[in-house]
Amino acid sequence: MTQTDTTTAGSGGSGATGGSGRADGLLAPVPDEDGAPFFRYAARGELRVQSCADCGEPRFPPRPCCPHCQSFDSLWTKMSGRGRIWSYVLPHPPLLPGYAAQAPYNVILVELADAPRIRLVGNLVASADAALNSVPPERLRIGAPVKAAFHETDDGLTVVRWLLERP
Ligand SMILES: [Zn+2]
Repeated sequence: MTQTDTTTAGSGGSGATGGSGRADGLLAPVPDEDGAPFFRYAARGELRVQSCADCGEPRFPPRPCCPHCQSFDSLWTKMSGRGRIWSYVLPHPPLLPGYAAQAPYNVILVELADAPRIRLVGNLVASADAALNSVPPERLRIGAPVKAAFHETDDGLTVVRWLLERP
């Protein structure tokens, strides 16, 4: 499983490979078997991370086997949805046309408050359904507290996005 290339990533999420184009020209995640639960929970407004059912260690991206104890038993642990910006990039052209239209936008790496070793790739936006460039680049700060929001894309997949705790 691969994460969407951060130079074009626009649909926050996990457990998916880069996928088909959409009407807005952005790439849609295509959930695979291991990552599908992430998106099913997101559609219910829940941020959950796969964890080992034996040793309890969370892991990302989703995969069949625990890298710590080699157990194949897993569960999906509900997170608070809170985290902080661990790093970010501001992609600039050359980009795919759908992304170039919104540049400069941001791609952030969020460290989860409940699982500090887990970092999710996503976008910081002004509201769940806002454009990728809805937060001015100068608002981005390493360490800024963020909270998860849930955005349903044109093709019905719900992706996790991020809002500043203090807009
Ligand atoms: Zn384990």
